[in-house]
Amino acid sequence: MSSMKICINCGCSDIVSDRSLGGKLVCVRCGSSIFRNKSLTLKKVKNLIYLIIGLFILFIIII
Ligand SMILES: [Zn+2]
Repeated sequence: MSSMKICINCGCSDIVSDRSLGGKLVCVRCGSSIFRNKSLTLKKVKNLIYLIIGLFILFIIII
């Protein structure tokens, strides 16, 4: 169940439920409790944004 999520802070997929926090899911590496779905990686989104910006700059240069 937890393998489907990764830490938004460090990208670590090792998530444990901390008993001292009432079973709240926390990242093993950095202790963050904010996670995102593994399927949508931030890197891919960033690459897409850079590609759009690059095309936009190229478009301006041509004009
Ligand atoms: Zn983390």
